[in-house]
Amino acid sequence: MKITRVETIVLAASLDDQAFGFSFNTSAARQSCVVVVHTDEGVTGIGEAFFVSGPAKIVATYIDEGLTPHLLGCDPRETAVLWHHLYSMTRDQGMKGLAISAISAIDLALHDIKGKALGISVSNLLGGRFRESAKVYATGLYEPLHIDDVESALVEEGKGYVARGFCGMKLKIGYGIETDTRYVEALRSAIGNDVKLMVDANHAYTAAEAAQLLPMLEENDVFWFEEPVIPEDLDGYVELRGRSRVLIAGGECEYTRFGFREVINRRAVDILQPDLCAVGGFTEMMAIAAMANAANLTLYPHVWGTNIGLAASLQAYAALAHTPQRRYPHEPLFELDQSPHPFRDAVSEETFDMEQGYVSVPDRPGLGITFDRDAVDKFRV
Ligand code: CA
Repeated sequence: MKITRVETIVLAASLDDQAFGFSFNTSAARQSCVVVVHTDEGVTGIGEAFFVSGPAKIVATYIDEGLTPHLLGCDPRETAVLWHHLYSMTRDQGMKGLAISAISAIDLALHDIKGKALGISVSNLLGGRFRESAKVYATGLYEPLHIDDVESALVEEGKGYVARGFCGMKLKIGYGIETDTRYVEALRSAIGNDVKLMVDANHAYTAAEAAQLLPMLEENDVFWFEEPVIPEDLDGYVELRGRSRVLIAGGECEYTRFGFREVINRRAVDILQPDLCAVGGFTEMMAIAAMANAANLTLYPHVWGTNIGLAASLQAYAALAHTPQRRYPHEPLFELDQSPHPFRDAVSEETFDMEQGYVSVPDRPGLGITFDRDAVDKFRV
């Protein structure tokens, strides 16, 4: 089997009056770079690159001009060989960020092809399924931009997640200690004490500022504090982790086995959050998962983007070994993004609906989704 073509598709849609803000930016649109890898045997694979801000066209161009020439004519089933080749060819200016997101999209598509060619799901390909469904928490609770009473809007949104049966939800913070305190207290009193509440500062603070928030987060029984400080400040993470009763989480801005080797060896976080579409795809996610398992550290995948990234993340999630193994093992939590996204569901014929707090892991071959070209065309740039 040989790769004959690598197709990049850039999707974008305005959020209009659903625009939202978080600690360091606002989002008025959603964008994504999707990859379709074609082969001489008619099997195609699909992937997606992690993307938050700026034009997704950059990633598409990087793939078209930087990665595709290394892939044409190669056997797509040689997933690790191709990962290492792409990484070593781009290492000098790559190593982190968009360059690795681009490789991630390719790695997803290659695994999709391999799974389809073998007639098995990617989770099966990765070693098998430790679980058939994902226990999900809601990511949302951003600051809506076109609403005056943000606090009431957050409370209503939080109550909605409780009513729908989510085991927990994640609130954006990082707006300053006073505002964060107001939001956390309002939300905790609205949702009651039976639901998990997590907070995410998107690296808005110094370690000293983040430490000032800890007593309030402990009082409100916050389960984890995500990205309290910038990803470059591992010392800050270690310092905070030493003084916090709330779990410290992070990793969505870290890349590859090389980046996570430092986070894990330093024991900088309680919960590692690599993003499959950013970290280097399945090849890197499973390498990091093995290191996390060896260090006896918890890994909850970070998930963002369309149903392509979601389906792929469910495949990786199913294949995460119990850490530690025990009679009643701890099930990792899976991030289910609830923030506005006009084409999240449009990319696939399948939808991922929550039932009693869980989402099923697809068991069809490959990623387990069918790319919906007609629906996607409406969002194509
Ligand atoms: Ca986050």
